[in-house]
Order: sequence, then C-alpha cells, then structure tokens
Amino acid sequence: MDPIGLSGGLKPYGKKGGDPINFGDPFGLCPDSLKKGGECPGGLKDDEWDAVEATYSCLSTEFASRLQSMLYAGDVRAFDLGASELGRRTEAGVPYRSAPDQIFVNRGHASGNFFFSPRLGFVLSHELGHVELFKGMTPAQATASYEKSAASRTVHEAGAALIGQTHYTCSAPPRMP
Ligand SMILES: [Zn+2]
Repeated sequence: MDPIGLSGGLKPYGKKGGDPINFGDPFGLCPDSLKKGGECPGGLKDDEWDAVEATYSCLSTEFASRLQSMLYAGDVRAFDLGASELGRRTEAGVPYRSAPDQIFVNRGHASGNFFFSPRLGFVLSHELGHVELFKGMTPAQATASYEKSAASRTVHEAGAALIGQTHYTCSAPPRMP
C-alpha cells in the first residue's frame, strides 16, 4: 500500500499570521555549480526548484531558511506514485522508513506535478513539521514513532499539522482532487 512510507495526509487550515520574508532571488534557477547531469540537487528540474523557492514568501523566516537548506542539500526530492491510488492522492511526504530528514513531492499527483500546485507551500510547511518531529531519529525510530499505533500516528499528524500551520503565513489553498 505504502512502499516508501510517507507520512502525509492533510486537512485544510485557516490563515495564520507570521513573518513572511523575501529572499534575494526567490525565483532564481538552481546554481549551475550544483547541477549534476543537468539536474538540480534532489534530482529536481529547474522549474521544480523555482517552485520550491517561490514558497519562501509564504513561510516564516525560520521555515523558509530550513527549506532552503534542505533544497540545497538535495533533501527536497521528487517521487512518482501516480500509478497507485495512494500515489495519486499523496501530495508530498517524508519517507520516514528510509530518510526521515527528506521531503518528497509527488510528480504523479492526480492534479498533475505537485511542484506546480498552489498548495505546494502549505503542504511543504506541514512536511517540515514532520521533519521537525523526526529530528535526530534514525529511520527505525521515526518509523516506530509514526507507525507504532493508529493513535501515535494521529498524534504525530496533529503535531506536524500544528507546527506547519504556525509557520505558514498565506491563506491555505483548498485541497486538490
Ligand atoms: Zn502528515
């Protein structure tokens, strides 16, 4: 059902105040010096990289900075589970079974490549909440933390939602199909 083990599942939340900031080059291409085989860190295409950077303006300074660090480190990646029902519904997630410090974004979402969804920033703020909750954990520990029981999973989701909500400063876009 869930081969990668993505923590995900989002509900829409209302608007929250915060500290939006503008980075010097929010729509810049990834630096050529960082490209490998023509791809940006994380295996992203230039326009996918741009889409992630464009979300900084809807994140708190702290989360924008963290997301930028992850992006440059190649810890924001693409996945495509479009062939499965789960994959089409999954917008993005943290692969806690293998890399609880990475965020995967679904290129095969039902609405298209999710990097280009108006929900990208909102969803990334939620996934950053998961990364925060998994901080310092091995994959095994993160898996136990997230999957131990239905209750702990629910608690973990709620925690990630709360953290993400706190750091998202724009209006939450409606859920995609
Ligand atoms: Zn989640």
